[in-house]
Amino acid sequence: MATWQCVKQCGACCHLDPAYRPDLDEYLSPEEMELYLSMVGEGGWCVNFDRTTRECRIYPYRPRFCRVEAEVFEDMYGICPEELNDFAIECCQEQIEGVYGDRSLEMLRFNQAVGYIYKEG
Ligand code: SF4
Ligand code: SF4
Repeated sequence: MATWQCVKQCGACCHLDPAYRPDLDEYLSPEEMELYLSMVGEGGWCVNFDRTTRECRIYPYRPRFCRVEAEVFEDMYGICPEELNDFAIECCQEQIEGVYGDRSLEMLRFNQAVGYIYKEG
């Protein structure tokens, strides 16, 4: 079974361009939405994302909506803790595909790290 983990030097989910996330208002509170939009920088990347190191500059203080944590996902998406693993893997794959492409090195690295095996058909 694949086990979710965040891989280093990815950062696909730090590409915040709201044009690619039409459902934001469904899971962010008005205050969070304001914060989110204030973080969108050049090319749609988060202003806190270091594009050279591909790391978050405020990692310990990153907002709630950046955190892959059971409580946050239950609250934001209605995902129960048992579903978190598979849901998080899908979220990352979607983000990585959108930002880097489905045949990108980032996708390969992610799938290898989590132990994801493509199903035929
Ligand atoms: S898309 Fe997933 S693997 Fe990539 S930085 Fe975000 S949480 Fe980590
Ligand atoms: S605050 Fe950090 S984790 Fe959140 S989107 Fe920005 S760079 Fe990524």
